Amino acid sequence: MVVDTGGVVSVPSSESQGSDALAITRGGGPVAVAQALKDAAAAGLPALIERQAASAVEEALAIIFVVDGQAGVNASDLDIAEWLRKKHSNKFITLAVNKCESPVKGLLQAADFWCLGFTPIPVSAISGTGTGDLLDDVCAHLTSLEMRDDLDNKEKERLAIAIIGKPNVGKSSILNALVGEERTIVSPVSGTTRDAIDTEFTGPNGKLFQLIDTAGIRRRAAVAAAGSKTESLSVNRALQAIRRSDVVALVIDAMDCVTEQDYKLAEIIEKEGKACIIVVNKWDTIPDKNSKTTVYYEDDVREKLRVLYWAPIVYTSATNNQRIYRILEVATNAGEERCKRISTAILNQVVQEAVSLRQPPTTRGGKKGRIYYCTQAAIRPPTFVFFVNDAKLFPEDYRKYVHKHLRQNVGFPGTPIRLLWRSKTKPERAHSKTGSSEASRMMAAT
Ligand code: GDP
Repeated sequence: MVVDTGGVVSVPSSESQGSDALAITRGGGPVAVAQALKDAAAAGLPALIERQAASAVEEALAIIFVVDGQAGVNASDLDIAEWLRKKHSNKFITLAVNKCESPVKGLLQAADFWCLGFTPIPVSAISGTGTGDLLDDVCAHLTSLEMRDDLDNKEKERLAIAIIGKPNVGKSSILNALVGEERTIVSPVSGTTRDAIDTEFTGPNGKLFQLIDTAGIRRRAAVAAAGSKTESLSVNRALQAIRRSDVVALVIDAMDCVTEQDYKLAEIIEKEGKACIIVVNKWDTIPDKNSKTTVYYEDDVREKLRVLYWAPIVYTSATNNQRIYRILEVATNAGEERCKRISTAILNQVVQEAVSLRQPPTTRGGKKGRIYYCTQAAIRPPTFVFFVNDAKLFPEDYRKYVHKHLRQNVGFPGTPIRLLWRSKTKPERAHSKTGSSEASRMMAAT
């Protein structure tokens, strides 16, 4: 996810000019400028960085610090560079010197910025010069950042659970029942990058949780028309919370059961590759329950939320404190499944079995799909790459069949999984035939 912050402005040479520039950016006049400077000072930020930009930097794994190559280094650049070095040295920071399209002057313009303490990369957004190098640089470091053991170990240990659902389903009640008086708000910042309140707490098993509490997904009848601003805003708010989470607790009201809006949220959860648990709250309001009630109810939920067929269901009553901690247990399991890796040997055994039970179809021209091997290329969510002779020879229903077979045999309850089908090019195939172990190279790489 790339966040473009609009919140950093340049510092001109004199203070009054600075105020003018800031006033234009913020559109609030000198009073707003004074307030912005005060806010920034209180938050320990460089004078001219806005809070929204600061929270985006806070959340990012990598930062692209963009400066103006034609204007040269200014005081604001130095200020921001120092702040990044001091406060964000654990992140990958790349310095993009923009407007360096000139083949003659570009390199020299960029070289000016060595004084900021980062390696300047000359780029030009207008002509595209250097943008590929910039992307390579960022991507190469993202991989190594992900692998770095010391990278925010605390973050890794902490399970972020987003509690989402329509208003009144009981999200706040669940949160209160979970954390009670211990509640410590870690981020009451409301802005463009987050529109939720985070609560950090230690669960009964000693595990650290971060609960992302959305303010409630509003759906006002008057603006329910597709594409209305409020509708897209609320989905956007849910999306932000979902993106920041490891596991989503999708809360529904037992009496209302699943609504169309829940289905929309479910689709987002699946698409974002997040683990999920379905929390059927207010279970106490269902009258005359007997041993079959849960079975009937589950059938109904599964029918209406097919996209989350893999998500476990927890029946709770926040007001009666029933099974509230079960949410944490089930969410923890789902979070672990999302990070699970299975060995290539087991995986290929399961795939072979799937193929022997049902062969890939043969085309009219006699062509038949062949799976060479499969490997798990990623986690969060678990992602499997199938290396095949020609991906086009594997129709959707066959892919679904393999997907289902994999699920049945290797599990991954609580998390979506991804299957990617990759055709091997001719030279690659020839290469593998000569004994070069592509599989082992892939395995080593993953
Ligand atoms: P939110 O908008 O999703 O955060 O919902 P709230 O937590 O504010 O709850 C909305 C209403 O439902 C409140 O009146 C709660 O007391 C009630 N409520 C929440 N959970 C339960 C429950 O498990 N059972 C019953 N009967 N009422 C509940």
